[in-house]
Amino acid sequence: MSIEKKPRKSGKIIVVSAPSGCGKSTIINSILDSGQPELRFSVSATNRRPRPGEVDGVHYHFLTTEEFRDAIAENKFVEWEEVYPGRFYGTLKSEIDRIIDKGGNVILDIDVKGGLNVKRLYGDRVKTIFFLPPSISELRHRLESRGTDAPEIIDERVNKAELEISFADSFDERIINDDLEKAISLTRRTIEDFINK
Ligand code: 5GP
Repeated sequence: MSIEKKPRKSGKIIVVSAPSGCGKSTIINSILDSGQPELRFSVSATNRRPRPGEVDGVHYHFLTTEEFRDAIAENKFVEWEEVYPGRFYGTLKSEIDRIIDKGGNVILDIDVKGGLNVKRLYGDRVKTIFFLPPSISELRHRLESRGTDAPEIIDERVNKAELEISFADSFDERIINDDLEKAISLTRRTIEDFINK
């Protein structure tokens, strides 16, 4: 992991993290679609392959492993992590700068370690939000009902979720997604209050 020196520009940064299956993408997309003023999604870089429907430059900047390593060497990341073995994800300085230079605020959907590093780096300009499932058994149930993952993958995701949840207390806000609409409106209010502070 590498972190860079604190930038001087204005603009707020919202970091959102959650275990897989907590509805994080649905909540973020709903807030972005509702036209939250001046809130823009930071498109991360990754060396994983695009999933069906994912567009380069929209969902991620899809890089080869070599390109990702070059970007690390060229100091292009604010932070990066090997979130899964061999799978790298990183926040590009150019993304944050692009949004903040235009007077915007940034929302980052990144893993817990990356999120806490961004907080360490940018301090009070960052609000970290962690989404929690109502319980581990409910999370398992949601992952099973998606029907997309094999049982051993579900076990892996649940184990990872337990590890990620152990970081929840280090986040500024914890929002339990037991009712999607409530979670969306609470998240929106939290972001608006922080941006308008
Ligand atoms: P997925 O492959 O399902 O899109 O993402 C896997 C994980 O990588 C998610 O927890 C996501 O939040 C995290 N992630 C995405 N982009 C970044 C990033 O730029 N930095 C870090 N540290 N994690 C990221």
